[in-house]
Amino acid sequence: MKNHMTVSFDAISINEAFARMTVSAFLVGMDPTVEELTDIKTAVSEAVTNAIIHGYDDAEGKVVMTCEIEGRDVTIYIQDQGQGIADVDKAREPFYTSRPELERSGMGFAFMEAFMDELDVYSGPGLGTTVVMKKRMRDRESYAAV
Ligand code: ATP
Ligand code: MG
Repeated sequence: MKNHMTVSFDAISINEAFARMTVSAFLVGMDPTVEELTDIKTAVSEAVTNAIIHGYDDAEGKVVMTCEIEGRDVTIYIQDQGQGIADVDKAREPFYTSRPELERSGMGFAFMEAFMDELDVYSGPGLGTTVVMKKRMRDRESYAAV
């Protein structure tokens, strides 16, 4: 099965829940396990929160979320046109945060990496940020037998 959706929403924290619920609703047709959905919702939340807090620093902006399904493979794109990241490798290190004063723990990218199978981050100063996350869902047959 192939399927695609894109939504654009305001970069405000109330929309973190909207993004999580929307991605879950879109994936429901794949018959995901509760664990798979929880993993994906957590990863989406982290990426969307980053776009709002770091990308736009609570200023006005839009976040675009795209989800593609191909067979059992799910690819999610979270895009912002905010300030971007100067050093992506450093930003991805566990416990690195540029906002310790906000009591952030610097674990967002580490969670995305842990809960998804693949994580790519495309960013640069003034260029915005695109986070691409992939996850292969279990085959229906394999969990029908469990
Ligand atoms: P936590 O997610 O644990 O609350 P955090 O958001 O600081 O803390 P990460 O999510 O791992 O930690 O992100 C690490 C750093 O990468 C951020 O502190 C920020 O500097 C940068 N960053 C992440 N996403 C973006 C983004 N969309 N735009 C600009 N900078 C970003
Ligand atoms: Mg974060």
